[in-house]
Amino acid sequence: MLNHTNSAALFDQAKSLIPGGVNSPVRAFRSVGGGPVFMQSAQGAWLTDVDGNRYVDFINSWGPMILGHAPEVVLEAVREALQGSLSFGAPTQREVAMAGLIREMVPSIEKVRLVNSGTEACMSAIRVARGYTGRSKIIKFEGCYHGHGDSFLIAAGSGALTLGTPDSAGVTEGVAQDTITVAYNDLAAVKAAVDANPEQVAALILEPVVGNMGLVAPGPGFLQGLRDLCTANGIVLIFDEVMTGFRLAPGGAQELYGVTPDLTTLGKIIGGGLPVGAYGGREDIMNCVAPAGKVYQAGTLSGNPLATAAGFAQLSYLRDNPALYEQLNATTTRLADGTRKIAAELGLNYTVNQVGSMFSLFFTAEPVNSLDDAKKSDTAAFGRYFHAMLNRGIYLAPSQYEALFVSTAITSDIVDLYLSACRESLQEAHAQR
Ligand SMILES: *Cc1c(COP(=O)(O)O)cnc(C)c1O
Repeated sequence: MLNHTNSAALFDQAKSLIPGGVNSPVRAFRSVGGGPVFMQSAQGAWLTDVDGNRYVDFINSWGPMILGHAPEVVLEAVREALQGSLSFGAPTQREVAMAGLIREMVPSIEKVRLVNSGTEACMSAIRVARGYTGRSKIIKFEGCYHGHGDSFLIAAGSGALTLGTPDSAGVTEGVAQDTITVAYNDLAAVKAAVDANPEQVAALILEPVVGNMGLVAPGPGFLQGLRDLCTANGIVLIFDEVMTGFRLAPGGAQELYGVTPDLTTLGKIIGGGLPVGAYGGREDIMNCVAPAGKVYQAGTLSGNPLATAAGFAQLSYLRDNPALYEQLNATTTRLADGTRKIAAELGLNYTVNQVGSMFSLFFTAEPVNSLDDAKKSDTAAFGRYFHAMLNRGIYLAPSQYEALFVSTAITSDIVDLYLSACRESLQEAHAQR
């Protein structure tokens, strides 16, 4: 077993100072048991923790570190920006360059507003959709995550047509009444929800490829079906590409699937590891945002010099090296296919979903196309597998319901390391039963 003495001591201290000891819940390892590993530093594919253990990183900060950790091209841009002060609260040239680059890379974005997180981007995007349409309700999908804004922390009602209920303490019934939640990949349910709420739905928001219930791909025709439904009913279609943007293709899932949303939300990769989010889309809709229009949205640190320097450097690198997407996809296909094959050889016909450089191993033999499907997974076995992998120096997402993110730093040798650890860990997870 690896030695986690320093991590354990820090976690004890953290628990007395920070709720649950962490600044974002999934980091606490609650769904896999045990205490979290505190990180010290990282380079390329490798993380080093506070006890000196090293791990191959398959989280990559939940996506942003697509070039691996501490890539020189991003560090250099931040170093340069650092010399010119950390914040102005006034417009800068970098923001203009960043907006231009985003518009160039993401086909549907005509105008864009920078914010500081994916949560902010999604909260703001639905406010704009409401301001633009003059309607109140939004439709979202079970298992999609759009940050911690009140409107999104709503569970589905008892039937597809009923209104939602708060899914977090502190969210009011009033807010819940404006959020309708339906099953992912169920176009008929979306149609029914739209029909049941005529001229009341402002926006339909989804992850075009879901990363937040484990990796789930849209079924054939699902995205186009939503596009057609939104067009026919005057609903603003919002693609939440906080995970998929600049990852599945330079222009995200909308480029990969050839479906054009009205608004797009971005985060994670867009900041190169610093806090950046963005929302953008059709010019007539974005012109509703203050000070051009009447939908208020602001941010003291929005467009921050360091954050835009890091983001611009990383996005430019991705734009200028499109071949890296083929490399990422090939690496991920080896990981996903290898995982599927190993599981099958061990008599476990587990489902492995992959789109581009994201993949998930679900501990169920059934296909996974929705949250209900994902919930068939044996999460106890997943927890044992997670710890067996961690002990072999493979750092996976500490929950069955998360995707893994591959970076360009994952070489073919590292894939081999992962695959042998995967075989041993699957055996270990099932031998202990
Ligand atoms: C991470 C994530 C968010 C929230 O972004 P934060 O930067 O954590 O606020 C929103 N939507 C999706 C799809 C995400 O994966």
